[in-house]
Amino acid sequence: MKIDLHAHSTVSDGTDTPIQLVRKAAEAELDVVALTDHDSSAGWDDAVRTASRSGVCLIRGAEFTCLWQGVAVHMLSYLHEPAFPPLVEELHRVRQARLDRARVMVEMVAQDFPITWEDVVAQTGPGAAVGRPHVADALVAAGVAPNRTAAFKEILHSRSPYCVRHYSSDAIVMVEIIRAAGGVPVFAHPGAIHRQRLVGDQAIMEMAEAGLAGLEVYHRDNPAPQRARLLALAEQLDLLVTGSSDYHGEGKANRLGENTTPLEVLLEIVAQGELGPAGADKI
Ligand code: AMP
Ligand code: ZN
Ligand code: FE
Ligand code: FE
Repeated sequence: MKIDLHAHSTVSDGTDTPIQLVRKAAEAELDVVALTDHDSSAGWDDAVRTASRSGVCLIRGAEFTCLWQGVAVHMLSYLHEPAFPPLVEELHRVRQARLDRARVMVEMVAQDFPITWEDVVAQTGPGAAVGRPHVADALVAAGVAPNRTAAFKEILHSRSPYCVRHYSSDAIVMVEIIRAAGGVPVFAHPGAIHRQRLVGDQAIMEMAEAGLAGLEVYHRDNPAPQRARLLALAEQLDLLVTGSSDYHGEGKANRLGENTTPLEVLLEIVAQGELGPAGADKI
């Protein structure tokens, strides 16, 4: 069984539509793929319909943008009820903040590079949570950078003066909301030390107490010493251990299925989640 529980579509900052993503998962011979767009579940319907036709089992998911005491944290959620009012309210707030922040960023970037707000909108898929990757794509389209990764490296990285922060949910509150919505929270790439500041063991202990289900240990951005640390913590706190690609289509080098999750871990996630998998009858 090949199970990949972290992939993005054009509903956030991936380059494949949800339909294309599920088809590519089938081509990559995945048995199970989770669609985990940033702060949105707008891609679920298309993905579910495609999964039931293509022999891939689809797990409905999302990746929520959070903060733990000022440090950015990405929280995956699987099988939550998307219409749960506190979740809807929180996501509305985050998505609005993303939009406001993107406008401010584009105003600053536009002083030095030839892009407009309309150029960024043109790079943003319908229903998508707008973010730095869309600004990066506008810079690529304008010929300023050769690709998204270069635009990040040179212009949009976290320490760049063009990078503005936005309101994000409190990680502990989000774990509680996900559980209340019948979802299963898994901390995404918690050891991505070259990309961001990390939260310490104490933060993960507090998240576990609030209802965290697992840690995404096998992710290309978690180097070996971090994986060892996270495996020990998972053992100590009785957390599930997942592995995933964080595929973004052509937006990043990550390939579908480059890391995978064992079947027994998926079954435990499904057992804890409110919504079942879609298209599982086809495999
Ligand atoms: P934002 O949420 O708007 O702050 O943008 C962060 C997103 O940009 C994350 O989802 C990453 O997947 C993506 N990202 C971060 N660094 C890079 C990079 N070097 N190349 C391509 N995408 C990146
Ligand atoms: Zn992303
Ligand atoms: Fe992430
Ligand atoms: Fe991601």
